[in-house]
Amino acid sequence: MKKPAVFIDRDGTMNEQMGYINHLNRFALLPGVAEAIGILNRNKYISIVVSNQSGVARGYFPIELVEEVHANMRALLEKEKATVDGIFFCPHHPNGIVPEYSQACECRKPGTAFIQKACERFDIDLAKSYMIGDRYLDIELAHRSNLKGILVKTGYGLGEIDYVLPHMPLKPYHIAKDLLDAVRWIIEGEKKV
Ligand SMILES: [Mg+2]
Ligand SMILES: [Zn+2]
Repeated sequence: MKKPAVFIDRDGTMNEQMGYINHLNRFALLPGVAEAIGILNRNKYISIVVSNQSGVARGYFPIELVEEVHANMRALLEKEKATVDGIFFCPHHPNGIVPEYSQACECRKPGTAFIQKACERFDIDLAKSYMIGDRYLDIELAHRSNLKGILVKTGYGLGEIDYVLPHMPLKPYHIAKDLLDAVRWIIEGEKKV
C-alpha cells in the first residue's frame, strides 16, 4: 500500500544553520526535530532527508565526514526513539575542485533525482507527500516533484521569506515556524490556524 512521505532538508531545517558542516562539532539538532520525526514515524509517514553537500566537491571536507554526521544524527534521533527512513545527499558541484564530484548532476536540489530514487525504494503516495525546507530551492524542488512545499522559519527561512520569496515565481504551500510545527500541521490535516 502506498504511504505518504515527508522529504526534509537537513541544514537549517533539522540542524542549526552554521554554513558548511565541515566538522562533527558543528552539527546540532534543532529543538523539536526528534519529536517531529517521531510523530512522522508513529503516523506511518515515510521520512527522508534530502540534502545538498557541495562542500565535498569544493574540497571543504571529505565524503566520509558527511557519513559520520549522518551516523551522529541517526544516533541523536534514536535516543528519542525517532528514525529517518532514508538519507540522500548530493556531494556534487559543477565548479568544484575535487574531480570525482565536480560535475553537473540531477541530484543537487532543486534537481529531482533523489525524489525519484526514493519512489523506487519506497511505495510513496506523492500526491499526499511534502517537502520541508528553509530555502527557496526546497520549494522549487517541491514544485518540480509535485510535492507540497513547506518553508520553515529556522535556518535561512526568515531571510528567504523577507528577501527572496517576494521576487520568485513559486510560493510555498505553507509556512511553518519550524520542523515540529510543520509536521504537526501535516498530521492535523492541514488545519487552518
Ligand atoms: Mg537548508
Ligand atoms: Zn548531485
